[in-house]
Amino acid sequence: MNGLRKLKSVMGRSIHVTTRIDLARVRANAIAISRLTQTPMIAVIKADGYGLGAAEIAEAIADLVEGFCVFSIAEAIEAQIWRRTAKPCLALGPDAGAGVDDYLKHHVRPSVWTVERAAALRQAAPAVSVDTGMQRFSCPAEQIEAVIAAGACTEAFTHATTLQRVAILLDRAGNRGLKLHAAGSSLLAEPTARLDAVRPGIALYRGAARVFTHLVDERGALGPAGYSGFVAERHGIILAGYSNGLRKGPCSINGRRSKILEVGMQSSYVQTADGDGIGDEVILLGDGLSEAEVAREWNTSEHEVLTRLAGIGRRIYP
Ligand SMILES: *Cc1c(COP(=O)(O)O)cnc(C)c1O
Repeated sequence: MNGLRKLKSVMGRSIHVTTRIDLARVRANAIAISRLTQTPMIAVIKADGYGLGAAEIAEAIADLVEGFCVFSIAEAIEAQIWRRTAKPCLALGPDAGAGVDDYLKHHVRPSVWTVERAAALRQAAPAVSVDTGMQRFSCPAEQIEAVIAAGACTEAFTHATTLQRVAILLDRAGNRGLKLHAAGSSLLAEPTARLDAVRPGIALYRGAARVFTHLVDERGALGPAGYSGFVAERHGIILAGYSNGLRKGPCSINGRRSKILEVGMQSSYVQTADGDGIGDEVILLGDGLSEAEVAREWNTSEHEVLTRLAGIGRRIYP
């Protein structure tokens, strides 16, 4: 009965998949970013540190960063970022009704983009989020002046993925003595994007997660198999499926690049070869299978790959 209760509590994640998180790699990534940019860093640990664990990530790099970014204040509270690191957090998005007292109590600063929000959160030292093209959670050009005044803002930022957006930030919020930041991972190599701080997310996490499971079945195929009638000479079964967030794509078995042939609700077929057997490791991410490679196959971003794959199984920190 006890065992069953434990199982219930992990529905959604597959208990058969493990995400091993290399915090030393995250630290090495942070050091490399600092060396490259020579600029103070605000580490983005939103969405539970892109699936790697916001609390653990924050502790691992606290001494290397100026502060952290979360999406919602609730994430900073849950991961107890202030208690763990004594570093401030900036919440990038809306907050489901948190008030100024909540921000002060938890040492989180809000982002503001309307006059009402800026005025309501003024005491919590809000930063103005400037719209340079995202058109969400950000302040349009004609209201910047009023928002800065209402919030007594001393900091302005934008979500920039291009130098053009950095230029728009400078045009709209520069030369006023405000602290400015714009660059996420994609602009770290651009000196003119660095401003007063850089705000990387994915660049901290690349290569830090190893997601793996094991074959629970392996056989030579008799013909078309699965729902889709895929044809492969041999296939194996792993215990994770789309209910856990898995998608069709590459994997690695016994040091050989292979693929996930079909994804079911809670199990999937993978292509195997002679010599593979039950119990052999199937790597979904890591060991040379990079976020970028999976992202190309999935036709999506490294961010989605990492967050999805890291979220499939249980996390361990060796
Ligand atoms: C997520 C996010 C980042 C980090 O983006 P990466 O591409 O992961 O480096 C930076 N700034 C804002 C506002 C974000 O929402």
